[in-house]
Amino acid sequence: MRIVTSAQEMQWVCRELRGGGAVLGLVPTMGALHEGHLSLVRRARGECSVVAVSIFVNPLQFGPHEDFAQYPRTFKEDCRALEREGVGVVFAPEAEEMYPAGAVTTVSVAEVGDRLDGASRPGHFAGVATVVAKLLHIVGPARAYFGQKDAAQLAVLRRMVRDLNFDVKLVGCAIVRDADGLALSSRNRYLSAEERALALAIRCSLAVVEKMIDEGTRDADVLVCAGRRVLDAEGLRVDYFAAVDADTLLPVQTVTPGTLVAVAAWVGATRLIDNFLAR
Ligand code: AMP
Repeated sequence: MRIVTSAQEMQWVCRELRGGGAVLGLVPTMGALHEGHLSLVRRARGECSVVAVSIFVNPLQFGPHEDFAQYPRTFKEDCRALEREGVGVVFAPEAEEMYPAGAVTTVSVAEVGDRLDGASRPGHFAGVATVVAKLLHIVGPARAYFGQKDAAQLAVLRRMVRDLNFDVKLVGCAIVRDADGLALSSRNRYLSAEERALALAIRCSLAVVEKMIDEGTRDADVLVCAGRRVLDAEGLRVDYFAAVDADTLLPVQTVTPGTLVAVAAWVGATRLIDNFLAR
């Protein structure tokens, strides 16, 4: 497994691989890898001849009071896991390599990028879109893999790829959960044992809503209120609980198959997200 830190070298390596006939798959990550990330890598391994994984804690997508400095960094362990998964290339640039002095060009996805997490984390999705655009240019993959866990991110990136004619297929991958249902997240490491137990309310709130939908409730207001109540009962601060169109992220009045039901809530100082697509 090759580890590359220079953007230019990564571009050369990937160009050479493509020239030799490789079908490149890219899995962008911020490291602190868990089974959720590895599920993306495995999917990519099944569909591409060479898998590239980027590990980059992207400063551009963190707000000034967010957790950029304390975000977990476990590079050696990450590389060991990726090697075991048969990854071909790891791209792990420093921030100065991705954003050299004087870099001012960014990609912002209007409207959809200002909804859900984009509403509560101003600039977040411009940071995500900018770094993913750069990674797609550097690697030139045929396919790029993203988790449905970050459903709003996936909607923003699909729009960017469409609007800017990126020649890549984005592949959305199912959410991987712990045995008790909590969605895996690098930020779960921040939780104390007590908070870890409380965090389950996020999954429960979605399960309650999913059951109501299965039993025939389709009114989004009724469903959203029911989901919020579960979180309120546990004392979790809700950032958003919403039923939205999965492409535009605009609220719907009636939940139909494919509607995205998404939640973001604070467990102590940790903000966690989760969602499901209605059947
Ligand atoms: P991150 O390192 O948090 O930026 O995540 C990198 C990629 O892994 C993103 O596409 C995430 O959506 C995806 N991912 C994170 N957690 C999970 C999970 N529990 N299940 C599936 N994909 C995930």
